[in-house]
Amino acid sequence: MSIKENICEVIENIKKYSSHPEKVKLIAVTKYVDENVIEKVLDTGHNILGENKAQVIREKIDYFKAKNMDIEWHFIGNLQKNKVKYIINDVSLIHSVNKLSLAEEINKRAEQVGKVIDILLEINVYGEETKQGYKLEELISDLEALKNLKNINIKGLMTMGPLDVDEVTTRKVFAELVRIKKELNENYFNNSLTELSMGMSGDYKIALQEGSTIIRVGSKLYEGIL
Ligand SMILES: *Cc1c(COP(=O)(O)O)cnc(C)c1O
Repeated sequence: MSIKENICEVIENIKKYSSHPEKVKLIAVTKYVDENVIEKVLDTGHNILGENKAQVIREKIDYFKAKNMDIEWHFIGNLQKNKVKYIINDVSLIHSVNKLSLAEEINKRAEQVGKVIDILLEINVYGEETKQGYKLEELISDLEALKNLKNINIKGLMTMGPLDVDEVTTRKVFAELVRIKKELNENYFNNSLTELSMGMSGDYKIALQEGSTIIRVGSKLYEGIL
């Protein structure tokens, strides 16, 4: 399999499994690969990329900027407050806002550079202790403060599917995120939450069936080439 074939397979599956495929965005996660392999991804025509480490995304952004390549970068990992300044100018969406203090730092840095940045709120739906993400009740208690931050634009929710569980459980977790989005839209956001970032290599088909609008796929893309 080539990267091109792998990407095509995922795109075909978006059409097959999603009930609104035109609304679904594929983030090609490049955290496993270097710039040479990323160029092969870009050669396929796909230019929406995701990374989970601030230092690494910074280096990769600079590398491709120097080559004048047009890339839409997404930050998908746990973000430390002191690293926000490295990415604020160049990422189009931060998927993983999981604390008020982080949101405040992002807001402050966005204000400094004169932009409003799109973010998602990360929710730990399944409650795994090892995972990042808001518990729903914590999120609800932070909501008013989050909504008052003028330089962040809350576009939706993100979750990581649980590891080592059966398909039924994974599906329940994704369905629960859909339910939470609906509840928040009705009670706090007046339907302004539109995005659901859920689904990775192992579970993106289930996520698509449940209503994902953004899938973050990494290892699947490099099958047969790494
Ligand atoms: C690595 C990573 C992915 C992609 O995972 P794969 O299983 O390799 O597709 C998606 N989301 C986040 C937050 C990640 O860190």
